[in-house]
Amino acid sequence: MADPQADLQSVEAALEALLTDVAPLPGEQLPSEDAAGRVLAEPVIATRDVPPADNSAMDGYALRAVDAGSPLRISQRIAAGSAPSPLAPRSCARIFTGGEMPPGADCVVRQEVVAHREDSVLIPTGVHPGENVRRRGRDVAAGSILLAAGTRLEGAALGHVAGQGIVSVSVRRRPRVALLSTGDELVEPGQPLGPGQIYNSNRPMLTRLLERFGAEVVHTATLPDDFATTCRLLGEAAQRADVVVSCGGVSVGEEDHVKAALERLGRLDLWRLAMRPGKPLALGRLPHADGEARFVGLPGNPVSSFVGAWLYLRPLIGALLSCDALASLPRLPALAGFSTRTQARRHFMRVTLEFGEAGIVARAFADQNSAVLSSCVAADALADIPARSTIDEGDPISCLWLVSG
Ligand code: AMP
Ligand code: MG
Repeated sequence: MADPQADLQSVEAALEALLTDVAPLPGEQLPSEDAAGRVLAEPVIATRDVPPADNSAMDGYALRAVDAGSPLRISQRIAAGSAPSPLAPRSCARIFTGGEMPPGADCVVRQEVVAHREDSVLIPTGVHPGENVRRRGRDVAAGSILLAAGTRLEGAALGHVAGQGIVSVSVRRRPRVALLSTGDELVEPGQPLGPGQIYNSNRPMLTRLLERFGAEVVHTATLPDDFATTCRLLGEAAQRADVVVSCGGVSVGEEDHVKAALERLGRLDLWRLAMRPGKPLALGRLPHADGEARFVGLPGNPVSSFVGAWLYLRPLIGALLSCDALASLPRLPALAGFSTRTQARRHFMRVTLEFGEAGIVARAFADQNSAVLSSCVAADALADIPARSTIDEGDPISCLWLVSG
């Protein structure tokens, strides 16, 4: 009998097929306050120096460094937000953090080391020009690239945009995803559960993951295990989306109609991958009004769907957004906190990571079966265990860190 594991294909080959000819989506102009999580379609060029003027890094006194060592009168008071006057000769200015340096002063001495006299202060010697001064343009120089195209706008990046006074940015349109569940057994939460039925856990799981990757789920449907309806609903989904994602129905069982429907409506490559969990993966194209939608058919087992989302949907969304941070999961070297053996298939084990003094230890959830979603809930990473290997506790392994970019 032929070896069922023979001629299994690699994850890398499937990824290459998946990411071939993916054109980034067009850009759109958005108010920056609505752009959180979005990906820049064009670089943001700085129009201003930040900070806009030299200012004090301390609460203290601004002076010319050469004047230190003799009593100086206090000629002005400069709080953050006030405009300073040029520094009068033989004087210093009381200044507060963020206060703009008065022209003529070249350093700030912190208040704790300054001795107060009746109407003057004594600044100790040993003070150098530039001390405790934040130079104009230290953070950002006008004309430089503030943020490169492809940057995901998270907290610090949004702060950087606001620091320029910019109120609108050009970001990629979010990939529109139609998310299809398949199977007569599926019921939505809120409905009563009949005999033989289960709740649809993949829909909310994949919706959330897709959103984290930067996509927008614009359409959902549940496909019954019936060829004609599967064809109709797949065709409808393709009209609304850049990407049609389905889960389940891509094995070669009698009730798996997605494959046949895809072949009828568009193009399909069915992959049998040398990986666990989730051997089958369907990749294809479905025609729609202005081109074609990408199709990704994940296996139905919740763990296989979860792992498939991280391994395949994340880079696909990343390619549509032209966002390098989403192209591949970061790898972390770790020590196995478990022992395991693999056969012909590479195993992506769900692990939690402990960051200890000896390094990172990866602890595997006890039950790594692909139907056990419990293994994914607390997972920080996928331990990438090569085929045909024996791992003992303490062995070095490589983990794919589950970060959304
Ligand atoms: P399939 O790939 O359709 O043969 O499904 C494999 C297994 O995953 C079966 O036990 C299904 O009941 C289960 N399954 C498929 N889709 C879902 C879903 N959306 N939520 C929970 N379990 C599912
Ligand atoms: Mg099914």
